[in-house]
This record gives sequence, C-alpha cells and structure tokens, in this order.
Amino acid sequence: MDDKALIANVVSEVLKRMATPGSPIGAAARPATSSNGLHDNVDAAVEQATVAQQQLAKAGMETRDGICKLLKAMAQENANEWGRIELEETKVGRLDHKIAKLGLLQGIPGVEFLKTAAKSGDKGICLDEMAPWGVIGVITPVTHSIPTVTANAIAMIASGNSLVINPHPSGAKCLCMAVEAYNKAIKAQFGIDALINAMHTPTLESADQIFKHPRIPMLVVTGGPAVARAAMQTPKRAVVAGPGNPPVVVDETADLKRAAEGIIFGAAFDNNLLCIGEKEVFVVDSVFDKMMAAMRQAGAVELSAGGVEKLTKAAITWKDDHWVAGKDFIGKDPSVLAAAAGVKLRDGVDLLFGETSEDNPFVPVEQMMPFVPFVRVRDFDQALELALKHEHGFGHTAIIHSNNLNNITRMGQAVNTTLFAVNGPSTGCLGANGEGFPSYSIATPSGEGVTSPLTFTRFRRMTVTDSLRIV
Ligand code: NAD
Repeated sequence: MDDKALIANVVSEVLKRMATPGSPIGAAARPATSSNGLHDNVDAAVEQATVAQQQLAKAGMETRDGICKLLKAMAQENANEWGRIELEETKVGRLDHKIAKLGLLQGIPGVEFLKTAAKSGDKGICLDEMAPWGVIGVITPVTHSIPTVTANAIAMIASGNSLVINPHPSGAKCLCMAVEAYNKAIKAQFGIDALINAMHTPTLESADQIFKHPRIPMLVVTGGPAVARAAMQTPKRAVVAGPGNPPVVVDETADLKRAAEGIIFGAAFDNNLLCIGEKEVFVVDSVFDKMMAAMRQAGAVELSAGGVEKLTKAAITWKDDHWVAGKDFIGKDPSVLAAAAGVKLRDGVDLLFGETSEDNPFVPVEQMMPFVPFVRVRDFDQALELALKHEHGFGHTAIIHSNNLNNITRMGQAVNTTLFAVNGPSTGCLGANGEGFPSYSIATPSGEGVTSPLTFTRFRRMTVTDSLRIV
C-alpha cells in the first residue's frame, strides 16, 4: 500500500468509528493505557510517551523527518474534513479558514532547523548538539485545536520529543481524532508506538497533573491569561504562548487602501480568533474619514454609533473588575454580530467596523470577534501611546501602516512585541500574506517567540581533547 492509500485508510477508519454510536473515540470511559495515544490517566500517558520517545531516539533523524512529512501530508489531505469536524465541535471560527489553517501547517519547520555546530582547534574538537527534552507536556487552546496539536507535534518530534496533551475540553474530540489517526499512521509506516498522547476527557486536574509530573521536564502552554499565569509560575521549564490584544496604528503617510485590505485580512481570519489578529485600530485624525471610506471600499461594513452601542452591550459584559467578551459572540460570523447591532448583513461580508471612543470595551478586551473598533487620535504620538496602553504589555503583536520610517522605527522600539507587522496583515508575520515560518504557539511572556524545533531542544556539548582533529 502506498503512503496516500495508507493515510486514507487510517483516517477513514477513525472517521467511521467517530460516526458509530458507542465508538470509543471521545467516549467517557477508556482503558487506563492505550496504544492509540488517547488516555484517561496522566501516568499512563506519560508512560506511553516515554516508551515512544525512546523508540524515536533509536530510530534516528531520517525517521523523525519522515514522521514530520507524514503529519503534514495527513493534515493537508484531511483539511476539508477535519476543518469541518473542528468547527462543528468548537463552534468558533469559519470553515474556509479552519481549512486554510490546516494548509498552513505545510510551512512548519522540521529537522532541517536542527544544526550541529562544530569547532576544531589546537586542543581538539567540540560538538554542540541540539538534544531532545524527552516527554513534553502540552496545553492547547479551543481556537485552533488540530492546527496547534499538529504544529506542536511536528516541531517537537523533529527535535526528538514525544507529547502528553491536555486539550481544551471544547476542542478535545477533534484533537483526539487527529491524534489517533497520526499515531496509527506513524505505527504503520515507522513501527513507533504512540508518540502523541492526549487526555480524552481533559480537566483542570489532569492539566495540573501534567504541570507537576516528575517525568515531564518541559511544558508548552498555548492559551489565555489564566493558563499563561499558571505556567509562568511553575518551577519547570515552560514555553508560554499567552494572550494578545494587537493594536494597529495608521498614520497620515499610510497607503490607506493597503491598510484597509491588511486589516480586513488579518482581523477577519477565522473570525478574529487568532492571538495575532488586529483587535483595535488607532487612526490619526487627518486621515480618519478617508480610512473609514477605504474600509468600506475594501468590503467591510461600518456600524453606526447606535449599532456599535447595541453590539457592545450584547457582546461584552463587566464581571468582577474587568470586561469579558461574551461566549455567544466569540469567533462567530459577522452576521451574528450584525444582528445584535440591529443590522441585516448582505452575504460575503468578512468584517464589521465602527468608530468608537477609547473607552469602548472592544478596545481593551481581547474580543476575538469580527468587529474592529476604530479610534480617532490627534496624531502619531497619541496613537502610539494608546497602542502601548491597550497592548497591555503582553509583548505579543502590533501592527503599523505607515510610510514614515521614523514612525515605524519608534513604534517598533516602543511596543517591544514578539511580532511587529508593517504595511501588511498581522498574519504576514507567520507566512500568510508575508514572510516568516508559521507556528500556532507564539511564546510571548517566556520569550521563545515563534516556536520551532529549536525551541524544544536542550543544548549539549561534547569536547574531545587532543584527538579527532584531522588537520
Ligand atoms: P483558554 O485560556 O480558555 O484555554 C487554553 C487552555 O488552557 C485550555 O486547554 C484550557 O483547558 C487550559 N486552562 C485554562 N485555565 C487553566 C488553568 N488554570 N490551569 C491549567 N489549564 C488551564 O484559551 P482559549 O479560549 O482556548 O484560547 C484563546 C486564548 O489563547 C486567547 O487569549 C489567545 O490569545 C491565546 N492564544 C495564544 C496563542 C499564542 O501563540 N500566543 C495561540 C493561540 C491562542
């Protein structure tokens, strides 16, 4: 059987079992250990991951490379089906972009990123190697369930590791489906047991057990403020891909058509679920009206002040001491938001926008909705001040549209974000309409940035004194 037929076989078997009542996939009760990589017990998952990681270490680099290519091929071939399944389960985002996100996985770096550094001198030789950590504990978000697990698995397996995952409960079923399909295909093609292990009914307790497990030396956490805080407090090595609230600045020198197209592309992507997506825009007064016209011209629909007010009341509420984006609106289609604003939307609209004051809760909150507030500011200085304020020091992503090198430089220095997109959509920083390799875990508070196989390696050096130098 060739590779394509093998993948198709494995996937269709998993899908068949998902559709069968009483199927073990996603069901509550499971055996304590499981060769397909799905578990109800963290110890069993760690045990399985440990065995598989040792098999991977023996198999070598060619096998790692082959597994990475296999996962990419499977994600691509199943993009339509898996995108649909993920949307049906999570109920956030857009089908075309769920599919596109699986396609973007083709750009995730693999073993080619791992380079051994060698030095040779009068006293012998030295090799600097990039070694695996072993079993990595992984937390995934609901916003990109299969894309995150796949991107993490490719990068972590490329660097010789195995995974134990606590998925978001609202995206666990589709993640487990992909994990099971991946493990079966890896076993069939490379003879290695479940490298990717997931809790099929994840809880905060299972997350905590993964955080504290003595045989998990590294954690990779992708999610919002609470889990990012928890991960930053663990004594373990933790790669933390936390929340963002990316501001956009548009100054008087910007190409407004280009700015509008960039903002629509980035903010509308998967209904603004991306942590890097444009969330609030500050436009200098002298071009504000023209910028609003450019947005309309580019196909976005502007809400009136009354419409913005209605939407804001419906979609964002005050809880305890802060604003909270409403679950009924996060990642929903523009038509849902428009209905709350009292507007009947024509088909094919990707994004809503409207003028707000800085005080509107859409500005400070990471709202993850296809509505973007536009705030009129006096000048570039005020735009920069407000961009910094509403990025909240996450150090995640910021965007500028400008042809003034001085303004671009000032903002780049001041925001100090991991990603800084200039004159294009935020997604450009991850290779969608721009340059740069993708990742679904942008490690912000812990500083690793766009995660790659290098992120998941330990530095190891061997020196050989007075021999092995052949010149
Ligand atoms: P979320 O914080 O609700 O959940 C993320 C994960 O953390 C889930 O698996 C959840 O079960 C778990 N979790 C939550 N609180 C926890 C705790 N106290 N202890 C252990 N586990 C806990 O986030 P979400 O809604 O799934 O995803 C959206 C958020 O994730 C946004 O804030 C977004 O910016 C962020 N995000 C960041 C990146 C990045 O690369 N930096 C990528 C995707 C999403």
